[in-house]
Amino acid sequence: MKPKGFVRRTRQREVILEVLRGTKSHPTADWVYQEVRKEMPQVSLGTIYRNLKTLSEHGEIQELAFGSTHSRFDANKDMHYHFVCEQCGMIEDLDIPPVEGLDDQVEQLGFKVTSHRLEFYGSCPKCAEESMGKAN
Ligand code: ZN
Ligand code: MN
Repeated sequence: MKPKGFVRRTRQREVILEVLRGTKSHPTADWVYQEVRKEMPQVSLGTIYRNLKTLSEHGEIQELAFGSTHSRFDANKDMHYHFVCEQCGMIEDLDIPPVEGLDDQVEQLGFKVTSHRLEFYGSCPKCAEESMGKAN
């Protein structure tokens, strides 16, 4: 999403950003809430939701919405792709460059592209190994 410009830094937002930057797990709002509460015991889940929304609207973080399931949040603002493990639910960054020219191809169809998001689904290395073990 296109950043909406400067977002006011509050103590709550600083702590949320710290928590998000400290993990690579793409956590849910609920997980962020539990972590932020360790530093700010009086914070509410609603406040966490509101701040996560504001931060993602301003391009400070990425919200990864997955249909009906809970959104996951990512402090890594750079365009990157993800792998979603269908066995254990882990979401991991993929260390591959964004596909060149993909946006152009879509624009040639008459659409105005602001960004694209790409997730791969399947089994993470650990789960793939475990299911191999079961098969034997
Ligand atoms: Zn897995
Ligand atoms: Mn990520």
